[in-house]
Amino acid sequence: MKEILLLKLGELVLKGLNRGNFEKRLMKNLAWRIRNFGEFKIYCMQSTIYVDPQSEDCDMDAALDAASRVFGIVNISRAAEVEKDIDKIISVSKEYLRDTLSNAKTFKVEAKRSDKSFPKKSPEICFEVGSALHDEFENIEVDVKNPEVLVKVEIRDRAAYVHANPIPGAGGLPVGINGRAAILLSGGIDSPVAAYMMAKRGVELFGIHFFSYPYTSERAKEKVIELARLVGKYAGNIKIAMVPFTKIQEEIRANCKEEYFTLIMRRFMMQIAERVARENNCGALITGESLGQVASQTMEALGVTENGISLPVLRPVIGMDKEEIVGIARRINTFETSILPYEDCCTVFTPKHPRTKPKLENILEEEKKLPFDALCCEAIENIEII
Ligand code: ATP
Ligand code: MG
Repeated sequence: MKEILLLKLGELVLKGLNRGNFEKRLMKNLAWRIRNFGEFKIYCMQSTIYVDPQSEDCDMDAALDAASRVFGIVNISRAAEVEKDIDKIISVSKEYLRDTLSNAKTFKVEAKRSDKSFPKKSPEICFEVGSALHDEFENIEVDVKNPEVLVKVEIRDRAAYVHANPIPGAGGLPVGINGRAAILLSGGIDSPVAAYMMAKRGVELFGIHFFSYPYTSERAKEKVIELARLVGKYAGNIKIAMVPFTKIQEEIRANCKEEYFTLIMRRFMMQIAERVARENNCGALITGESLGQVASQTMEALGVTENGISLPVLRPVIGMDKEEIVGIARRINTFETSILPYEDCCTVFTPKHPRTKPKLENILEEEKKLPFDALCCEAIENIEII
């Protein structure tokens, strides 16, 4: 029996004019994600994407797993493909759904006939398949309102398909259709979640990480690479610009008032990130800031941090509690890596009494003590892209 994956498109169905682009992008993303699992033909008809294995040795489990993390899909069914003949449809339904139906109490059959040349209409198909399944499995009764198993029979152009109980897709919009943005990726919990959330809205990601060797170790860098790899299971491959930050931090420490260390450092990060973002065709910056979570994330501090930046700064977790962020981090499997105890450059130079209501004038005054621009340029020149 031949199996195929049927992917139902999400929100993009609504976007009339751009629909073609959405579908093309989604199919391209999908093809890339399942490229190592065998040869598949991918095509789209009637708001459904077909993932059609071209040989026996295709790994359907792996393809299904990967497809469940591709944004733009609301649900996925693993279906049996069968010749458009009612007797064959019935016998394949019995065989293919045996495990599912043997363990259920109620079911219902829904038929959809998009090939109008098929001699039976949808209600007849439902009746015949339903009766046959009812006879075959004595444990199940029909429940049209709230069935435990919804058996679907679709008569389409090329063949008929039988499936039941789809698994949820990743939702969102296909990565790439909403442009590209630079995610400031620390090794913490919040920024990988922020990255995931924007990728879900169709944004392609470019990573930027600031490291302060030898204050932060090689392993802290590896941790960030691993986080990008985990987020990449949803967002696709993410390049990371590794920005050397040691000199900037040492200059700040040597010249500026301690209470402003963190904010001046964060302003450097944003300004450097903006330049790197523009060079890499990104239309926005993304951070994992959440209002009031730490001293540098009060409203005043956020204002100071983004002052001087002209790209939009997207902060998808700004209104979320830590617990909610952790919930997502666990679900997308970044949490365990995020909590590995390697130091971050922010924590190395933390002031004892940071300002929570900073005044921009004071900070700009402090910054005058540093060759701000030259330091940014030097850091950018020494970026390594991974
Ligand atoms: P996270 O959990 O993402 O580390 P956080 O709650 O620890 O966030 P901060 O350390 O104040 O908060 O950082 C706020 C945001 O600034 C981070 O979410 C991230 O987007 C960015 N950021 C912080 N440190 C770095 C870094 N070393 N490299 C790149 N971006 C960083
Ligand atoms: Mg952090």
